[in-house]
This record gives sequence, structure tokens and C-alpha cells, in this order.
Amino acid sequence: MIEFKNVTKEYTQGVFALRDISLTIADGELIFLAGPSGAGKSSLLKLIAGVERPSSGIVSVHGQDVSKLNASSLPFYRRKLGLILQGQGLLLDRSVLANVMLPLIVAGAASSEAEIRARAALEKVNLSDKAEARPLTLSGGEQQRVAIARAIVNRPRIILADEPTAFLDKDNANKVVNALKAFQSAGVTCIISSHDEQLLEQASRVIYLSKGAISDSWTSALAA
Ligand code: ADP
Ligand code: ADP
Repeated sequence: MIEFKNVTKEYTQGVFALRDISLTIADGELIFLAGPSGAGKSSLLKLIAGVERPSSGIVSVHGQDVSKLNASSLPFYRRKLGLILQGQGLLLDRSVLANVMLPLIVAGAASSEAEIRARAALEKVNLSDKAEARPLTLSGGEQQRVAIARAIVNRPRIILADEPTAFLDKDNANKVVNALKAFQSAGVTCIISSHDEQLLEQASRVIYLSKGAISDSWTSALAA
């Protein structure tokens, strides 16, 4: 379970990214985090990932207060998450397969084992035929699916995806969401941020954010 208790994030004095957020996300839920640019979506994901700390309030994941993790335990904590954050691109000078193997290699897996698991992860996102390709020869949608394979290769219980469908057409966006949904049906909690209203039609639960606060609908999020 992921729990936010009265969480506020103020980056610099007077700049509130999140205001008094309380919410609970059960294991295995697929959640869309919706709202216009600047609403606080990335900040909420970064607080779960321990990339940022709350200014006040508590973020806990599986009973662990994330802000209590220290510099040596944070990397182990993050390894249990599948992170698809913005600005964490693929390594362009390596194959798709090498990119997906990397988290396993970093975690100390033997390369033969890492290759088997990376190929299995690529199969899950329907990219087996692109294993040997370089990332730049792939379409934007395919690159995002490689990022998903890289994020899930460590078998995380939680996937956090920040705008994974930005810049994709509807067809590719659906493929990316379907790839994430496949992990959700295997029991993984997925939190996907998006400002794309069409995408939200497929969501079982949507959390609308507007100016750092939870709104009850898309319309009120835009109007706030
Ligand atoms: P979204 O993901 O919905 O676009 P963000 O969480 O990125 O929203 O941003 C929410 C607010 O916090 C914005 O006003 C943004 O400018 C501000 N913000 C985000 N990151 C920082 C930062 N590192 N320093 C200062 N302000 C930030
Ligand atoms: P294998 O057991 O050989 O790894 P699977 O078909 O079970 O093959 O899974 C393929 C890949 O997909 C795994 O390497 C893992 O990275 C990912 N995966 C499968 N199931 C899950 C799951 N429940 N949670 C997270 N990742 C998963």
C-alpha cells in the first residue's frame, strides 16, 4: 500500500507543488494521475520514489516512511520500484537488450542470467525483434516500451511512469498503456501520470491534481 498523509511539498518559499495531499493506493491498482502541466504530478511520483522529500506530512510505501530512508538504503528501496521518469533516457550507444540488462547488471546479476531476463522482459512489451537494435532506430512508442522493459526487469511491485505517452500518437500511446496494464494484471501497482484526457477513458481510477491539490474531476482540475 502507498499512503500519503497530509503531504505538502514546497520547493522554494511560496512555490507549492503539492498541498495537503492525503490518499491511499492499494497493491495492484492501476492509477492515472491526471492534471494540467504544473499540477504536481511529477512531484507526487518523485515523493514516492524518494527523489524528493515532503516539506510536511508522511509518504509511506509498504509501511516504510520514505523520508526516513538514508543515503545507503535509498538505492535498495528504488530497486524495488520500476521507474519511468522523465529525462531518464536510454543509452544510445548500446543495444536495446543491453539497456534492459543494465539494472540487473547493476544489481549484481550474472550477464547470462541478465540476458535471459531482459529478453523475457522485451517479450512482455512485444519488442523481442528489436533486442539488437540501437534505441535511435526505434519509434518513440517503441523507445517508451524499452523504458518499460528496463523498469520492470527487476520485478518491481510498483511501477511509476511519468508521462510515458507524451509525444506519442493515440495508437502508440495505447500500446504503451497496454504494456503497463499487462503488469498490473500480474499484481503490480501502476501509477501513470498523463495530461492526455483520452487516455483516462481506460482507467479504473483517476486521481486529478490541480495546482497541487486533489480535484474531483478533470473539468474542475482545469477550472481551478
Ligand atoms: P507536473 O508534473 O504536473 O507538470 P510538477 O510536479 O513538475 O508538475 O510541478 C509542480 C510545481 O512545482 C510547478 O509549479 C513547478 O514549477 C514546481 N517545481 C517542480 N519541480 C521544482 C523544483 N525542482 N524546484 C522548484 N520548483 C519546482
Ligand atoms: P521469467 O520468469 O523467465 O523472468 P516471465 O515471463 O515470468 O519470465 O517474466 C518476464 C519478465 O517480465 C521478467 O524478467 C520480469 O522482468 C517481468 N515480469 C514478469 N512478471 C512480473 C511481475 N509480476 N512483476 C514485475 N515484473 C514482472
